[in-house]
Amino acid sequence: MKPKSLFRELARIVGKEGVLWRPEDLMLYEYDALSSRRQPQAVAFPCTTEHVVQIVRLAARLALPVVARGAGTGLSGGSVATEGGILLGFSRMKQILEIDLENQRARVQPGVVNLDLSLAVADGGYYYAPDPSSQKACTIGGNVAENSGGPHTLAYGVTTNHVLGLVVVLPDGQVIHTGARHWDSPGYDLTGVFVGSEGTLGIVTEVIVRLCRKPEAVKTLLAIYDQVADATRTVAAITARGITPAALEMMDGFTLRAVEEATHAGYPMDCAAVLLIEMEGLSEAVEEHAEEAEAVCRENRAREVRRAKSSEERDLLWKGRKNAFGALGRISPSYYVQDGVIPRTRLPEMLEFIGGIEKKYGLHIGNIFHAGDGNLHPLILYDARDAEQSARVLQAAKEIIGRCVEMGGSITGEHGVGFEKTDLMPLIFSDDDLDLMRRIKSLFNPQGRFNPGKLLPTGKMCGELRVERAAGGVV
Ligand SMILES: Cc1cc2nc3c(=O)[nH]c(=O)nc-3n(C[C@H](O)[C@H](O)[C@H](O)COP(=O)(O)OP(=O)(O)OC[C@H]3O[C@@H](n4cnc5c(N)ncnc54)[C@H](O)[C@@H]3O)c2cc1C
Repeated sequence: MKPKSLFRELARIVGKEGVLWRPEDLMLYEYDALSSRRQPQAVAFPCTTEHVVQIVRLAARLALPVVARGAGTGLSGGSVATEGGILLGFSRMKQILEIDLENQRARVQPGVVNLDLSLAVADGGYYYAPDPSSQKACTIGGNVAENSGGPHTLAYGVTTNHVLGLVVVLPDGQVIHTGARHWDSPGYDLTGVFVGSEGTLGIVTEVIVRLCRKPEAVKTLLAIYDQVADATRTVAAITARGITPAALEMMDGFTLRAVEEATHAGYPMDCAAVLLIEMEGLSEAVEEHAEEAEAVCRENRAREVRRAKSSEERDLLWKGRKNAFGALGRISPSYYVQDGVIPRTRLPEMLEFIGGIEKKYGLHIGNIFHAGDGNLHPLILYDARDAEQSARVLQAAKEIIGRCVEMGGSITGEHGVGFEKTDLMPLIFSDDDLDLMRRIKSLFNPQGRFNPGKLLPTGKMCGELRVERAAGGVV
């Protein structure tokens, strides 16, 4: 169908102001936070579940792919329309529909920005626990699709632990309700099936989330090290003592210096690594655990352990951590963020391995980890205009992920598979596992028109395509 005709069909559903179709408008929607591009044929901005149903039915009639898009902060290419079709933008579905503090839950549209939900319930003493570092921009719909985590995953779990129910539109326009408003719901856990399915099974149009009570006390420690290995050893030592911090983050010295220059958060410029450790809970317990954690840091040769003296100081430290990717973006034309998981006890070994990769491939790698849950984010700096360098980056990234798997970890901790890692899925799943996943997908999405080419291996990947992709080329 010609672009103008598709525009007319979509405008009948969502109004002219709710559709983009000119190439210059579509440019803004041709990529997410992974550097690769592909334009959809049109972007439609629904306001209601009914709009989504009608768009999905139109797409079925025209045999077009449908790709949902939240804020486009995804790091695995999930919301890129790699096979064209209609992109569903959720920026007009950003209402908090219901807040029920007494029962600790809220019902929201998928386009609600993660942080806005916490801000909306803050005065009542509540917050929404999953806190991706991108929380000022990313949406609850995107979080559900990616099963996102964040610095506080260590204590509170990931998105799936905070979603009670969903409204989902299936590829034939059928609307289903999963889960319930309370903890348990009989029957199969369909909510669990949709959370983390990366838009390949259905389009989420409403989410019932659990709200958490703000802790009585919070203490934030900054442990400063002259040796990276001492910082990584501390991570396992803290949890071995039976202390579970709410967050336990690590940044290496190279990253820290970039972060400090960008954010002036108060991080030291001359150390090898820091740990950002947060304790939450009842005042007495928090103080006791903070003292114990401080002692463990010192036993593991922390040069200094600082405590945030005010909520402003705490906010500043977190601002630095949560803007770390952007800070590295200031010193390099491009960077490739890896997202892998290993058992946290193997962090010292892994850091040494990454140091070896840096030397082997002649690249700079900044290390930012959700260290407490063994989730690594090595950021490989490079220049995407240089094809040879781009190829080296992909090889280095592949070795790092391969090592994660060998250590008993996984190919992704929170950024999802998207189309970036489909060909890595066989590293952690057997043919039978993947076959069952394909059968589940074909049950919900029989023609494969919802987010095609994502999550499951398609056999379409090839080395050439990957190089083009890393270079920001068109897939
Ligand atoms: C600086 C930075 C820091 C980050 N830090 C973290 C972090 O700490 N933890 C973490 O987990 N991630 C992190 N991310 C990755 C990203 O922010 C998360 O994956 C986030 O959940 C994506 O949300 P989004 O709204 O941007 O979704 P998008 O990128 O727009 O989409 C992501 C996926 O969700 C699907 N989708 C979106 N909306 C719907 C819907 N309504 N129904 C069905 N499918 C849908 C899309 O099709 C796509 O597959 C970070 C990214 C950046 C750029």
